[in-house]
Amino acid sequence: MGKIAVLDENMVNMIAAGEVIERPASVVKELLENSIDAQAKRITVKIEDGGRKLVSVTDDGIGMEADDLQSAFMPHATSKIRTDEDLLNISTMGFRGEALASIAAVSTVSMISRTADSIQANRFEMDCGNKGQLKPASGDCGTTIEVRNLFYKLPGRRKFLRTANTEMTHIIEHFTRIALSHCQLDMTLIHNSRQLHRLIPSANLIDRIGQLSGKAVAADLIETQSSEKNITITALMGKPALARATSKFQYVFLNRRFIRDRFIFHAIKEAYRGLVEPNKYPAVFLFLEMPPDAYDVNVHPTKIEVRFRDANVVHSQVLAVLREKLLGINLDVSAQLPSPSVSLADDTQTSHAEQARRQRIAEAMAEFFKEHKSVGTSQQHFGFSAPAKNITEFKPTSVGNTSDAQIHPASKKFLQVHNSYIITQSDEGFVIVDQHALHERIIYEELCRKISSGNLFSQRLLIPETFELTEAQSEAIKNNSELIEKLGIELEPFGPKTVAIQAFPSILDKVSPGSFVQDLLDMLIDKSHELDPERLLHEVLDLTACKAAVKAGQRLTDSEIEQLLKDKETVARASRCPHGRPTTIKFTIKELEKQFKRTGF
Ligand code: ADP
Ligand code: MG
Repeated sequence: MGKIAVLDENMVNMIAAGEVIERPASVVKELLENSIDAQAKRITVKIEDGGRKLVSVTDDGIGMEADDLQSAFMPHATSKIRTDEDLLNISTMGFRGEALASIAAVSTVSMISRTADSIQANRFEMDCGNKGQLKPASGDCGTTIEVRNLFYKLPGRRKFLRTANTEMTHIIEHFTRIALSHCQLDMTLIHNSRQLHRLIPSANLIDRIGQLSGKAVAADLIETQSSEKNITITALMGKPALARATSKFQYVFLNRRFIRDRFIFHAIKEAYRGLVEPNKYPAVFLFLEMPPDAYDVNVHPTKIEVRFRDANVVHSQVLAVLREKLLGINLDVSAQLPSPSVSLADDTQTSHAEQARRQRIAEAMAEFFKEHKSVGTSQQHFGFSAPAKNITEFKPTSVGNTSDAQIHPASKKFLQVHNSYIITQSDEGFVIVDQHALHERIIYEELCRKISSGNLFSQRLLIPETFELTEAQSEAIKNNSELIEKLGIELEPFGPKTVAIQAFPSILDKVSPGSFVQDLLDMLIDKSHELDPERLLHEVLDLTACKAAVKAGQRLTDSEIEQLLKDKETVARASRCPHGRPTTIKFTIKELEKQFKRTGF
């Protein structure tokens, strides 16, 4: 007897289910999409035991007639495509007609549905691919589908399900994706009779994000929009402080469908380059709208990946709209002072010891500020009478006045502390600047500007500096000759294994040429394999800016400080150093006042 047998339909569906239905969350996703396609306005999702026991979705959509209720479970049964033309203009979330068949092949399903002009509902049941009976039932207009005991006849698959909590995390994620891209929907999520989400229809996305991710996230978003080259982009961009260690807070939707796309992720990363630390992911909610023929969604069974006809255009449009917005706004970090309202709210539960501790802190703070109020005039915001304990190196800022520096000329409201930070007055309060981080950013931007229009300006060294090369270093020189030239560094062989630095960038005039070139070569050895030329160039500029910038602990003259603060006003992305760390922390008077009211003074 031959070895080949044709699989029966049920078997085929079970295998298909493996592709589409991976875990309870996939069921939730497919059912939510069906409800949306059925024009539902209100959807309730009920889960039991992380979805192992039950996934149920109730909607108020158009429902199904009795006949359709049965055929909906047949493989390739869909009401969404009739002709091949339809396939090119898909606007519904589903169209393959395999979700219900796949789900019903691996679980016990009951579906009750009623259309608007039907006097009653009908119920149809399926158990692991076996059809039950079609019966009249009572029910509202719309559809309720209950999926029980997922994979119960497939112990191998069931074994792979995780704890209820983990499965719920996946379910919540899918629920969130749909909720974000369909703000107008009334959506409820219940787990083991506990309501996890109750989303009312919201007019705008920020409200919905607030409902899902909390007010704190919603408050730190910046909105931008563009419509060009057939791509409409709406983005809500998290301020750098919202950046996370994972890409979880990067939501990208294409025509309201959640997608993952490496070109778009790359564009987001580029847009925030220098604003967030390299290993962090900015929070971004990105909505793209494009004509359906500009991409292909059919590449992945769960349709999470797409293929763009022109990925480069998508990349450059996303990058442009995000970057333009980020460059145009002030991203200074606000000081994170403890919120007074929180401590008031929990005061009743606070122990006596804790209250006493707070009282002591409050008194100490009041004492500190009373002392400082007593000197200087009211306009002198840095009129400290004496160095405070934590400001050990008080530096008088008015030139030539070392004895009594409380009263500065109006133009010089700044103070360098610990030879590392500059405190200066702003319209809303005061800001603390990290001198190294800010200077690094200023130089970095200058380098970017100069390098885009040619090589860096360099100076010939009167006495060329020589040093010995390792094998890897001479390799790096050969492989990166163009980049080295761009920086304005001129190297010449000087005997075997030795090189002479003939010219060196003028911007690095305070840096030793030999040690800089060695550092540069070591970095090139390290990074040139993993980075494309553009990224590598920026890494090199980072390094250069870092070396050229004033250091922490370096005492600055008044005019140097003035220059730094002046440059801060004009340079792009001044609020972050090129590595993404903040250069500036601001304190608003309002925030301070709030704090002091709490203490009762
Ligand atoms: P697809 O969504 O790809 O068409 P499905 O297997 O998910 O395939 O669904 C099959 C069909 O069942 C749909 O095309 C639709 O006509 C019908 N259907 C499924 N769910 C619902 C629902 N909640 N309300 C109305 N019709 C539905
Ligand atoms: Mg579907």
